[in-house]
Amino acid sequence: MTTALTAPLLSDRVQLMQESATIAMAKKSRELAAQGVDVINLSFGEPDFQTPDYIKEAAKRALDEGYTHYTPVPGYLDLRQAICDKLLRDNQLQYQPNQVVVSTGAKQALANVVLAVVNPGDEVLIFAPYWVSYAALVELAGGVAVPLMGRPENGYKTTAAELAAAIGPRTKAVMYSSPCNPTGAVFNRAELAAIADVLAANPSVLAIADEIYEYINFTGEHVSLAQFAEVKDQVITVNGFSKGYAMTGWRLGYLAAHPAIAAACDKLQSQFTSGTCSIAQRAGLAALQGGRATADEMADAYRRRRDLVLTLAADIPGLVTPRPDGAFYIFPDVSALLGRRAPDGSAIDTSADLALYLLRDAHVACVSGDAFGAPYCLRFSTAASDEKLTEAFGRIKASLGRLG
Ligand code: PMP
Ligand code: GLU
Repeated sequence: MTTALTAPLLSDRVQLMQESATIAMAKKSRELAAQGVDVINLSFGEPDFQTPDYIKEAAKRALDEGYTHYTPVPGYLDLRQAICDKLLRDNQLQYQPNQVVVSTGAKQALANVVLAVVNPGDEVLIFAPYWVSYAALVELAGGVAVPLMGRPENGYKTTAAELAAAIGPRTKAVMYSSPCNPTGAVFNRAELAAIADVLAANPSVLAIADEIYEYINFTGEHVSLAQFAEVKDQVITVNGFSKGYAMTGWRLGYLAAHPAIAAACDKLQSQFTSGTCSIAQRAGLAALQGGRATADEMADAYRRRRDLVLTLAADIPGLVTPRPDGAFYIFPDVSALLGRRAPDGSAIDTSADLALYLLRDAHVACVSGDAFGAPYCLRFSTAASDEKLTEAFGRIKASLGRLG
C-alpha cells in the first residue's frame, strides 16, 4: 500500500523545519558523484583523516570484551570521569561526572540542552554567522532564534557590547561556537572576559558554548567561557570527538553543566535515545587517555591547508576571504559576484544560486551562506588534500571567470 504522506499528516514542527543545509548539499554532491561526475565535495564539514589507529584498536577490544549491552544513559562512569580529567587538564575546569552527559554527537548534546532550557517564546541570541543547526534546534523547542551578526571588520565576532544591547526580558540563552563554524573566528581571553561580565550582570541568561573545534585552533590558546568563575554555573560547555579525533561516524559528544541542567539532559536522553553506542564510548575513553598528540598533528595539517586555500582564494576575483584562526572552513563574502549571469543565461542572484552554479559548472560542492545567517557568503571546507583543494579552487576560478 502506498500512502501519500503529505502536509496534513505531518506536524507543523517538522514542516516548519529546514533540512540541514550542510547535509543537503553533501547529499546533492554524492548524487552527482554516483552519476560518475568527478565532484570535489567541500560542502560537508568533516575531517578527511581516518580515526587514529589506537582508537580503532580500543573499539575492537571493546567488542571482544563484551561491551554489547545498553549503557548508562549519561555514558559510562569511567568515560565521564575521563571527560572531567580532560576538562581539568585542557581547560582548568572542575566538573564531577554527574555534571557530564555523553550523547550521540555534540549535535545531540546541543539538542538536549536546548530542549532542556528553552520554553516556547523564549529568545536565544545566536552569534552569527552561526552553525546551521542552532536556529533549527531553538525553533524546534518553540523558542525564537535571534541572530546577532558580528561585524566583518571584527572578524565576524559579536562583541560584549553588542550582546549587552541585545539582551531583553525574554532572553533565555546565548549560543556560539569558538573556534567558529563557519567563519573560523576564535574568541580570545579578553573578548570572553567581557562577554562573561555581561552574563554576570544577567544571571538568568545561560550560555551554550560549543567548543567542538577546540583542538583545531591556530592561535595557541583556547579559552572556555566556563573558566570565568562568576558565570560558570550559567555556562553549558559542549564538546565532542568528531573533529579533534576525526570520529564523525562514531557519534560521540558531550556536555558539562550545572548538575540540574545535566540531570535534565539525562532525563531527556532517557526517553529519546538512551545511552549512546557502547563501542563508541570505549573508543572515546581510549581517545582521551591518548591525550591530544594525534589531534595536534591533524591540526597542523589544517593550518597548512588554511594557508594554501587563502593563497588560492586570494587569486580569485570576487572572493573576500577573512583569515580563519581555527576550524577547517573558509567563509568568503561573494557579494561582488551576485547579480551576474551564468553562461547559460541563468541568474546568479543569491549565494545559493552561486553554490548551485559551482556544483553544476565546476563540480565543486560548497554551502551557501544563508544557512549560517550570512546570505552573501559561501562556506568551503578545507578538510581535503592539497591536491583536491588546488584542483577545486582552480575549477572555481575558471567557472567564476565565465560569469557574465
Ligand atoms: N557544532 C558545530 C559547530 C559543528 O560544526 C558540528 C559538526 N557537525 C557539531 C556541533 C556536531 O558535531 P557532532 O554531532 O558530529 O559531534
Ligand atoms: N559540522 C559539519 C558541517 O558543518 C557536519 C554536518 C552537520 O552535522 O550538519 O558541515
